[in-house]
Order: sequence, then structure tokens, then C-alpha cells
Amino acid sequence: MKKLLVYLCVISLIICTLPIRISAVSPVSQKRIVLTFDDGPHPKQTRQILDFLDKYQIKATFFVIGTNVRQYPDVLREVEKRGHEIGNHTNTHSHAARLDSNTLEQQILDCEREIFLQSGVSAKLFRPPEGALNDQMRAIIRNLGYTNVLWNLDTLDWAHTPPEQIAEYVISNAKNGDIILMHDYIGYNSPTLEALELFVPELLEQGFTFVTVGELLALK
Ligand SMILES: [Zn+2]
Repeated sequence: MKKLLVYLCVISLIICTLPIRISAVSPVSQKRIVLTFDDGPHPKQTRQILDFLDKYQIKATFFVIGTNVRQYPDVLREVEKRGHEIGNHTNTHSHAARLDSNTLEQQILDCEREIFLQSGVSAKLFRPPEGALNDQMRAIIRNLGYTNVLWNLDTLDWAHTPPEQIAEYVISNAKNGDIILMHDYIGYNSPTLEALELFVPELLEQGFTFVTVGELLALK
């Protein structure tokens, strides 16, 4: 009988301490998420996004196009000065899967040179336009020393999706380790800033920490 009592006490102790152990393994503060912005820099849209990010002390990753860098070098320098990460998105946003290997390589190198000339940054992250990739491209990109970066959550801001719809999509799907695709250069009526204003405070409230792609990869 005495043995049985001791046994029951031990079992109940284990059950009582179990939830504490589980919560200690995965604290809410461990949730990390990345904001990425493609196709810039743009003198108005990029700066508005930079101001927004500063307001919340968030760092993001910007995948820039070489020709836009050449046109707006001051904006690229601002992205760098404000502590954000810069990645390569080709020189003219050509659909990478349709290019022959030499042209793709040149597209990447031209953008790389432009980024370095204007900001002194040696970009090592690459995002193919439209996410198009095949094995040959992967090999070229790897040989140039780049890491390919795609995404988990496509906000469809480039298709002028209403900001409320973008926010709802991100809030209901966001999970630890996700990479969110957005754009800081959209021809007209960009919903991006308004969508950020709707979902970023909510994700912060939920315990998410915003990190750059580089920081996320270092954590993995
Ligand atoms: Zn793009």
C-alpha cells in the first residue's frame, strides 16, 4: 500500500510539472518571421516603407533590380544606412528560367556590380524574378556564391490585392520561420504600406520577432 502511494505521488508530480517543461521548450518569443521587399528601389514607395520599418524598429531584406539601383542610388544607400539587408534580383528583372546560362550570369553580375558601386554592399542572397528556378540556374547561382531565397507567404501585393485581404492572409497563416513576399516598387496604387500597417502590429502582439533573411538562415 505504501509503495502504491509513493508511486501515485511520483506520477502526479510528473503530470504537474509536464506543462511547465513544454512551455519552456517553445517560448512565444522564439517566433521569427521575415519581411522581404522586391523590385525596388523606388524613391517614394521604398522610403515610405523604410519610415514604417523605423517606426517599429524592424529590419527587412530588399531584393533590388540593378537598373532601379542605377536610377535611384540614393534610395539604395538609404536602405543600407538604415540597417537593412540587400539582395540581388537581377539587372532587368528578366524571367530567369528563359535566359541562357551566360545571360543569367551577366544579369546577376551586373546587378551585383551596381549594388556594390552604389552602397559598398557585397550581396550574397539572390531571388529569381517570379521565383522561377531550374537545376541549371541553381548551379549558376551557387557557383557565383549566392544563396537562393524564395518565400512561404505571397501577399499578392503586386496584383493590387486589397490591404485588408493581405493582412488577413498573413495574420491567419504566419508561423515561425516564414518569409513574406512583398514589393517596394509597384506601378500604381500599391497596397503594400497599408497592409503592413494592418498586420505588423498584430504579429508583434502575437510575439513574432522580425529578422532579416540572413539572420533567419544563421538561426537554422
Ligand atoms: Zn520581382
